[in-house]
This record gives sequence, C-alpha cells and structure tokens, in this order.
Amino acid sequence: MQQLLVDELTGDRVILVPARALRPDTFRVHAEPLPASVASCPFCVGNEHDTPPEVARLGDGDPDTAGWHLRVVPNKYPIVGDGVPGAHEVVIFSPAHDVDMGALSDGAATDVLLMLRDRSRFHLAHGCRYAQAFVNQGKNAGASIEHPHAQLVALDLVPPRVQVRLDRFAPATFTNDQKHKVVDGAVVVWCPPASPTPFTVRLALADGGPRFDEAADDETRAVGVGLRDAIARLRRALGDVAYNVMIESAPRDHAERFQWWVDVVPRVTAYAGFELATGLSVNIVAPAEAAAALQAV
Ligand SMILES: [Zn+2]
Repeated sequence: MQQLLVDELTGDRVILVPARALRPDTFRVHAEPLPASVASCPFCVGNEHDTPPEVARLGDGDPDTAGWHLRVVPNKYPIVGDGVPGAHEVVIFSPAHDVDMGALSDGAATDVLLMLRDRSRFHLAHGCRYAQAFVNQGKNAGASIEHPHAQLVALDLVPPRVQVRLDRFAPATFTNDQKHKVVDGAVVVWCPPASPTPFTVRLALADGGPRFDEAADDETRAVGVGLRDAIARLRRALGDVAYNVMIESAPRDHAERFQWWVDVVPRVTAYAGFELATGLSVNIVAPAEAAAALQAV
C-alpha cells in the first residue's frame, strides 16, 4: 500500500511504494574500476599546477607540489564569488584517483572531516553565515570531476532549506527519526522513515551539538570513521553506486536547539518528471528493509 510520509527533520515529502521482494541486488551497479591515476586529471598528484593555488594541505612538500595526502583548493569554477558573496573550495581526499570516501583509511577519513570542519570554521569566522559541506560521488550524483573530492560552499545567507530544518528541529523528532537503526553507538547510523530514495542513510553523534564547525576533534573523528563505514556498507550492498553526502549543520549565530547530522543519498533512482513537477519523491524500498539489508552487509 502506498503511504505519503513527511521527513520530520527536513519537511520533505515522499510517497513510499514498497515493491514486493525487492533485494538490494535490484539496484546493484557495476562500473569499470577507476585507474589509480589519470594524466589529464587536475586532482591527481603531479598535476597541482592545474588547480588554483591551494589554501591548505596535509602531508609533505611545498604548496602546489607533490607530497600531500590531502589538499584544499578554491574551485576553479566557483558558484559563489563576486556576484553572490561567499567561498567555494574543493577538498581532494587523496592523491589517488580511485579512492572514494568509502575506501579511505581511518586516518584519511578523519582528516577529510577535520579539514571540512576547519575550513567551515574559517569561513564562518570571516563573515559567512552558513557553510555547506557536501560530496558528489559519481556522474549520477553530479560529479563533474571523477577524482573523489568534497566541496565546501560558504554563503553570507541562510538558505531556505536550512531555515526549514532549523524551524522543524525538536530533540524528540530527531530520536524518533532513528527507529530503523543500522548502527548504534557514539555515532548512530539509520535509515530515515521518510527516506527520499532507497537506502538513504543518516548519521549523527549520539550526543552532538548544533554546529559541525564547532564539533570537537574526537566527535569529528568518530563521524569521519562512521561515515566511511556507512558508505562502505552502501558500496557492499549496491556496488559502484553514485551518491551524495550532505553535512546538515546550523548556521553561525544560531542559538536555538539543533543537532548537526549527515545525509548520504545513493542515486539509485532518477529524480524525474513527477518529482520535478511536484517536489514529492517516490521510494520503492521500505526504510526498515533498507536498514536490515545494510546491517547484514
Ligand atoms: Zn585524479
């Protein structure tokens, strides 16, 4: 039977139409393995001159030369700047072309999260009001460069969907959202009851604060490893699936209650005519079954 559900945290609406006996294999994606390096890739080691001058790096060597293991550069084609004030940066996970977030080591996964936090903190301390960190992994998730990377867009405004999340937030709702858990512990991983797509995963600290940029080192590390593990689960269940990662945080100066969290949306179904026209998503996998399947891999 079809159900119209509301995501209590985001206000998004979804029509849940669970198909019978649907297995994760239905959505399994196979892609040719990526090469470890690509001569023409601006994010591969050795091509540092193909990006704007870096703003941060981890590892050895001089700026804009080899030796790094994580690198932050301004986006060459920023969506904010002179016309819309803000900053747009790229965090390159690894010198290797073929290591997505689900394949990072513990150390590399925590470095990515710590760097995104620190760059968010930097821009919020320098006039921006909100910083959105996200990952587009794979062409179907909107990645224009294949080499795995995260992006950070800092804005001097609070975007409308962020405001909706702030207005809707209640601690009880947050707890209720976690009824289909995949992992429990210091970092909780779950499939939201009103998941917009099959196998949407949400994760958060069991006891987190309102802002990602204010997270403590140990909290940020825990979420880095938890996020890596959650994506690795999705990859085991769904293969080489494209996905988006979004870190949902409160803006600067937000004094009300909130708790930052991370959404991972695998792009296994298309956002097509009906969805574009109505704003309603259609999900054919019950979140409880998705959670059970992800728990089993
Ligand atoms: Zn590359």
